Amino acid sequence: MKKIPHRLYLTEDQMPRQWFNLRSAMPEQPDPLIHPGTLQPLGVSDLAPIFCEELAKQELDGTTPHVDIPEEVLEVYKMYRPSPLIRAYELEKALGTPARIYYKFEGNNTSGSHKLNSAVAQAYYAKMQGLTGVTTETGAGQWGTALSEACSYFGLTCDVYMVKCSYEQKPFRKAVMGVFNASVTPSPSMTTEAGRKILAENPGTTGSLGCAISEAVEAAVQSGGKKRYVLGSVLNQVLLHQSIIGLESKLAMEQLGEYPDVVVGCSGGGSNLGGLIAPFMADKLQGVKNPRIVAVEPASCPSFTRGKYAYDFCDTGKVTPLARMYTLGSGFIPSANHAGGLRYHGMSPILSKLYHDGYMEAVSYKQSQVFEAAVLFAKRETILPAPESAHAIKGAIDEALKCKETGEAKTILFGLTGTGYFDMTAYESYLSGSMTDYVPTDEDLQKGFDSLPKIPQNKNI
Ligand SMILES: *Cc1c(COP(=O)(O)O)cnc(C)c1O
Repeated sequence: MKKIPHRLYLTEDQMPRQWFNLRSAMPEQPDPLIHPGTLQPLGVSDLAPIFCEELAKQELDGTTPHVDIPEEVLEVYKMYRPSPLIRAYELEKALGTPARIYYKFEGNNTSGSHKLNSAVAQAYYAKMQGLTGVTTETGAGQWGTALSEACSYFGLTCDVYMVKCSYEQKPFRKAVMGVFNASVTPSPSMTTEAGRKILAENPGTTGSLGCAISEAVEAAVQSGGKKRYVLGSVLNQVLLHQSIIGLESKLAMEQLGEYPDVVVGCSGGGSNLGGLIAPFMADKLQGVKNPRIVAVEPASCPSFTRGKYAYDFCDTGKVTPLARMYTLGSGFIPSANHAGGLRYHGMSPILSKLYHDGYMEAVSYKQSQVFEAAVLFAKRETILPAPESAHAIKGAIDEALKCKETGEAKTILFGLTGTGYFDMTAYESYLSGSMTDYVPTDEDLQKGFDSLPKIPQNKNI
């Protein structure tokens, strides 16, 4: 067999010019977004006060298989894409596995993650609609950074509600967003009705993505039509934009004469995983190939592995539509000692449906196991991974170790979503031995499930 290079970069000309809509390949569609009051499916006009119109259309379009990437978006993509597909030779050696491990590296941009792929698209559509700016939430800060970059490029304002514990733990994230002129508010804040309510009920709260979403949505709705709310994960439109990851991966692997037996990705809200697997899952759904698809999540926020498949709010303040997804309940707030990211209570409705129908698997790991994998990876492959990405590394390592046991030379592809330079407090805590693991008890989880909406659709939960 010919020697496979360490890194494969597609050329600019080979970069896909269309996104791929995974829903178009699904035998059954995910359940629709519904209005929490009427319980009726939402149309574009219902979503238009919150979302940009083109994005609302993308959100609800389950049939168009390919969507042209606008020229202006492609121009920005070209500044940091195509991203490399890397063969993890050194990691393979360290593990002594016969498996061939590849990873798609999305950390080659200032946001340090894949999130820029959707931020650029969303900012572009907001600009085209004539809006003055957008509002959003950010947890660890990667999405806020990505969106700030995109907004500053297209000349839009960017109001970021940042989960309070991250705001305090990651001052440099704030500074990076400042470089791009974003305004960053720790959430929950006193600047919104939703924030004041959450603080009144829970004064000491360190915040959650769900709280920050409530605030950002409110800020958009109150802007007199000049701004819209944008979200960096979970939504169908975000998975659409992130399909560029999977499309490039598939193309690059084809050039190497490879096809993955297993595709592994970390899952917070599901955007990188949904994007990475899109073309491979389509092959699987259409019976062309049969790769295994594995989602990896933290044991402290186990939406797939211990959540319920139910209609739930996408936010804590219960101002968003209801989505049917694997969820821990919008009232669930992961333990503050969990530093590994992926803290969202819910999961992409597309991935939730695929998981529910048996097309993918999910595993969870404790954060100390994840950081152990991160450190091994950094030492062998020379990239310091984001803790989120390290979940996928851990998943891929375990798949490779299974191959070592069975002697099978499988091809493993995983998504390395970003770099961890802003997570050094977490690394320090791991290295000094002070990192603790937290796994919620069934009783802890029950409190979150009690917050699920009591509607007929959820009667079997
Ligand atoms: C946000 C983020 C994730 C998780 O989000 P998904 O929507 O599940 O992809 C994973 N890795 C990095 C580096 C991130 O910034």
